[in-house]
Amino acid sequence: MSGDRPQRKHIEGGSEMAREFEGKVALVTGAGSGIGRATAQALAEGGAEVMAADLSTEGGRETVELVEKEGGICHATAVDVTSASQVEQMVNQTIETFGRLDIAVNNAGIGGPSATIADYEEAAWRQVIDVNLIGVWLCMKYELAQMSKAGSGAIVNNSSILGLVGFPQASAYVSAKHGVVGLTKSAALEYSGQGIRINSVNPGFIETPLIESAGITPGSEMHEFLVGKHPAGRLGKPEEVAELILWLASDRASFVTGAAYLIDGGYVAQ
Ligand code: NAP
Repeated sequence: MSGDRPQRKHIEGGSEMAREFEGKVALVTGAGSGIGRATAQALAEGGAEVMAADLSTEGGRETVELVEKEGGICHATAVDVTSASQVEQMVNQTIETFGRLDIAVNNAGIGGPSATIADYEEAAWRQVIDVNLIGVWLCMKYELAQMSKAGSGAIVNNSSILGLVGFPQASAYVSAKHGVVGLTKSAALEYSGQGIRINSVNPGFIETPLIESAGITPGSEMHEFLVGKHPAGRLGKPEEVAELILWLASDRASFVTGAAYLIDGGYVAQ
């Protein structure tokens, strides 16, 4: 496959720190939007070759365009993280395209409806668990098979503050995100002896299409309410979460595994 290997167009300047992912291959799910896109862009800026996986092929393609405009290397692939065969294919395609897998960011997720437990539709509840929890497990299942062979790797799973505290009318999301924290700890224990580190990030509310699609837009009552819940006095930005993901994925975090890292403007500290 080396003949088909994508070539870097140009990378200008950049400190040694900024290029710390040179020679590494990263896979990001949900990379067509929000935090996943910001992470794909930041990893590519740091020199990584990036596979941008998303349900939406259009979103993935846009991410590729954004990365290539900055001289980085990125390929898009379509995946539904609830499908084992599609997830296996995503990992295989990453290896076929770039020859290895060093970093995986399991970020794809959905918010789900807002409803109390008695009113929550069963199908919707199962769907949130399917995407946000089973999807992360499926991704790790195939990524870890690959990383185990190589004897190295770093995985970052995107949980949430709602993986550590509750929130009314979001029982499926809260349960799935708590599950991601536990899954991350178990995975870290299973694979730390094989040179693989696995952590989660636990962001507060971040300005992305995920919250916009729930009607949480600047100026709305819910937006104001949520801003008030963050001592920082604002919601977070996708690029801020990407910073933490990059650190956890980097060799700078060489002794960090099984951890759940808050990035929440102080939300959980209260
Ligand atoms: P986003 O902008 O909506 O991005 C999520 C991406 O995941 C979308 O591109 C979406 O594709 C994709 N996706 C959804 N279902 C998928 C599936 N079954 N298979 C593959 N891809 C799928 O949301 P975001 O805010 O960046 O969220 C990214 C992650 O951060 C999620 O896990 C979320 O729970 C977590 N998080 C977000 C916040 C926040 O406040 N925004 C806070 C804490 C944690 P489509 O657009 O095509 O559906």
